[in-house]
Amino acid sequence: MPPMDPLAGTTTGPASSDFIRTIVADDQRTGKHAGRVVTRFPPEPNGYLHIGHAKSICLNFGVAVEFGGFCNLRFDDTNPTKEDVEYVDSIQEDVRWLGFDWGERMFYASDYFEALYGYAEQLILDGKAYVDSLTADEIREHRGTLTDPGRNSRYRERPATENLDLFRRMRAGEFPDGVHVLRAKIDMSSPNMNMRDPTLYRIRHATHHRTGDAWCIYPTYDYAHPISDALEGVTHSLCTLEFEDHRPLYDWVIEQTRPPGQPQQIEFARLNLNFTVMSKRKLLALVEQNIVNGWDDPRMPTIAGFRRRGFTPEAIRDFCARIGVAKKENVIDVALLEHTVREDLNRRALRALAVVRPLKVVIENYPEDRTEQVQAINNPEDPSAGTRLLPFSRELFIERDDFMEVPPKKFFRLSPGSEVRLRYAYILKCERVVKDPSGAVIELRCSYDPGSLNGETANRRVKGTIHWLSAREAKDAEVRIYDRLFQSSDPGEGGRDPLTDLNPGSLERVSGCKIEPALAESAPGDRFQFERLGYFCTDPDSRPGAPVFNRTVTLKDSWARIQGK
Ligand code: ATP
Ligand code: MG
Repeated sequence: MPPMDPLAGTTTGPASSDFIRTIVADDQRTGKHAGRVVTRFPPEPNGYLHIGHAKSICLNFGVAVEFGGFCNLRFDDTNPTKEDVEYVDSIQEDVRWLGFDWGERMFYASDYFEALYGYAEQLILDGKAYVDSLTADEIREHRGTLTDPGRNSRYRERPATENLDLFRRMRAGEFPDGVHVLRAKIDMSSPNMNMRDPTLYRIRHATHHRTGDAWCIYPTYDYAHPISDALEGVTHSLCTLEFEDHRPLYDWVIEQTRPPGQPQQIEFARLNLNFTVMSKRKLLALVEQNIVNGWDDPRMPTIAGFRRRGFTPEAIRDFCARIGVAKKENVIDVALLEHTVREDLNRRALRALAVVRPLKVVIENYPEDRTEQVQAINNPEDPSAGTRLLPFSRELFIERDDFMEVPPKKFFRLSPGSEVRLRYAYILKCERVVKDPSGAVIELRCSYDPGSLNGETANRRVKGTIHWLSAREAKDAEVRIYDRLFQSSDPGEGGRDPLTDLNPGSLERVSGCKIEPALAESAPGDRFQFERLGYFCTDPDSRPGAPVFNRTVTLKDSWARIQGK
């Protein structure tokens, strides 16, 4: 398979092929699994989904659709202490928002607790599992190292009847946490540490979000996962590379328990993004320590965070198609994700004028009582989006940054005596600067060229164009400017705490911003390009008369620049 061109993907076309799709196509052709294709997305409900999960979701649901199969949504809820229904709900919302549908096929590993228990008793009777009563420390000591083989536990040769009795009493709640575990009897000298009699069940007196207190023993991931796959008729169990060394155990569990179904585990490289942490444990720390405002903070790499930030599901799917699926670990530049979002928003976001840091302009030769309407283009990329009228009057707001009293060379915006084009309107000239007693510029006195919109000087060219709003009609808004949450391209590199790599300027809340009147009526989730400023979306914190906008991305495309586009 040739390496994928990361820019080869398209928004609407099918995903390009990759080594997994090649395997699935071969299996279907040769009639393996009777030609069926069933995949699953198996999140543990212990956090919100992040962009790495989106890669797995696009792969699992994508393969199912492309091969006429099914994809199950399965909650891998075998660890009651960390899981919560809030996460179960958010995961469903996020998968749906990304555009995927599991139909009736939503399952929980906890649905299989009874079946999993039955298979465990069978393993005991077959002499393939035993109850170990070593302490956790002893078990660790007996495990050996990568270079030294492990040692057998002194409980390893317990007769099956004794194991069965102990296991049943574990289930019945006779023992406190940690006193016994059920282990597979495989090979303590295996070069693969996962095969050194791995734990199948542990005692955990904890209330489960679905099964309540029905159980006080819980299966491990390595035991529950393959059997859950098999019970659901999963044919291709796609997981990330760190499970490659677990595959012999996956196969062992299937071979020894003989459930209906023969799933096959295939590993692919997980998504890594620079400037981003993706482990749920670390994301939880950001939430719990109030470093961000919840899982859906627009700075979070979670699906919920990106949604609130204004990313589109189409852009995220397109990003996943562009990065492709391969077996080799790599780090993707977060600029590619931002580029993909920009490309999508460029096509469909309506343009609007907004002034984030207003500076007042008075046009001295414009009549005080006049307001005229100028025509503005809603989306130059999409003529069907039409035009709208903007009020223009004697008093305007412009962006503070668009004026400099002492401009450097090549500053083509406004300065004393200079001229600029007001977007969709007239040419403006700065005549005088008004300052407060401290010397700060508080107002510009200007003149305009009355013929420069539709008159005899309409074609007169000046070097700069700036955005503006009519002061009387503009509405107030808060704008939240986001930057990367981490300032290091590899947060936590070399084992240091990623929280030491935080970008102190990742959120700036600016109030007293000015927006076009119509934007005050926008609904949470509406997306716009504020001309010259970037893409923005309306935040759910907006209230009538107090709209809030999030900056999604700037207009500067560092990815396109790197690619020489
Ligand atoms: P994390 O390591 O972020 O805590 P996880 O693997 O523990 O994630 P799960 O809920 O177990 O989270 O993940 C569900 C599925 O998503 C798994 O199949 C997992 O392989 C996949 N997945 C998780 N992170 C990534 C990633 N960065 N890239 C691709 N797939 C991922
Ligand atoms: Mg996991």
